[in-house]
Amino acid sequence: MNVKSYLMPTYGERSLEFSYGKGAYLFTKKNERYLDFGGGIAVNSLGHCHPKLIKALQKQSKKLWHTSNLYFNKNQEAYAKLLCKHSFAEKVFFTNSGVESIECGLKVIRRYHYYHKNIKKKNIITFEGAFHGRTFAALSAQRNKKYSEGFGPMLSGFVQVPFNDLYVLKKSINENTAAIMIETVQGEGGIRPISLSVLKEIKKLCVKNNILLFLDEVQCGFGRSGKLFSYQWANIKPDIMAVAKGIGSGFPMGACLATNDSSIGMTKGVHGSTYGGNPLAIAVGTAVIKEIMSKGFLDKVDKVARYLWLQLKQLENDIDEIIAIRGAGLLLGIKTKTDNIRISNMLTLNGLLTVPASDNVIRLAPPLIIAKSEVNQAIEIIRKVLKNIK
Ligand SMILES: *Cc1c(COP(=O)(O)O)cnc(C)c1O
Repeated sequence: MNVKSYLMPTYGERSLEFSYGKGAYLFTKKNERYLDFGGGIAVNSLGHCHPKLIKALQKQSKKLWHTSNLYFNKNQEAYAKLLCKHSFAEKVFFTNSGVESIECGLKVIRRYHYYHKNIKKKNIITFEGAFHGRTFAALSAQRNKKYSEGFGPMLSGFVQVPFNDLYVLKKSINENTAAIMIETVQGEGGIRPISLSVLKEIKKLCVKNNILLFLDEVQCGFGRSGKLFSYQWANIKPDIMAVAKGIGSGFPMGACLATNDSSIGMTKGVHGSTYGGNPLAIAVGTAVIKEIMSKGFLDKVDKVARYLWLQLKQLENDIDEIIAIRGAGLLLGIKTKTDNIRISNMLTLNGLLTVPASDNVIRLAPPLIIAKSEVNQAIEIIRKVLKNIK
């Protein structure tokens, strides 16, 4: 490892380096192969170097890279229309990352109540175990010391309640409540899905109390659940939703989606981004969603996800080390007795990449294009490692 690095050491020491990727695999310079069930933290939705994405990016890169949002771009308009067609949304704001999509959503909320002169409605209810990113607003929303220690003062206007607890949530709603912001499946917090019935109740509470429902699907969206968006399993519609990660399959981009109603305060000049909706991102994003929405694609994701779930449940049965299997679709967690980081490192040594999450969970977020045979390989590695753990 480099003793002298020019990088701020926020990511700690890293020695494993990849030189290329293909499909569900990453390779080192020496051609050592790793099965990628981390997916760059649930990002590489179509795997590595998908031919259609390479083509889209190459084609655009020869035409135009950047003009800024001072100019009209018909591909940007067409892509926004596509995102709306496949979701609840009627309006889109393009960003470059998850936390920027969160920031935009929070602004949509505040401007909505400002527009309607709901003077008191400033507070946003969030949930224990939440992760919404690393800006001051996101840190203030999640109230997790692990991320915010030493960065105070935090912003006010956030109220936190336990996850999946309707009773406390109901008691916390009052005349100051502007919105409820929630991950449909908590990612960093330990791969915890919100119960579909609780989500339906939250929606009802929002409607009843003139509160906006803001979903964070940065990690669980874009096909990972087996539907394009996780909320679609509950048959409800949010008012606002943040997306990123899987949206670009590795190209840095994100979006904040909203209804016409909720985004009524987002008028000319109130928000902006230099790069958001840049031509390269639009080209890749368009290719990603077209692939995910192509006939049979999501059915296949659902099928392979259910297969992976069954294999993991079998492992849970067979191996004492496993406390629980949880998650949804291809965003799954294995809660273990032994330290999750230690196990994740052992899996890596055996050729399987995973990402630890909170609550001692090993996170699996393989590309959506994963094959059954690759699931079998992963399961064998997990079985071997967990059986021999001491
Ligand atoms: C990763 C993540 C974010 C932040 O995304 P960045 O692109 O890192 O800014 C926000 N919310 C959730 C649920 C995430 O998983």
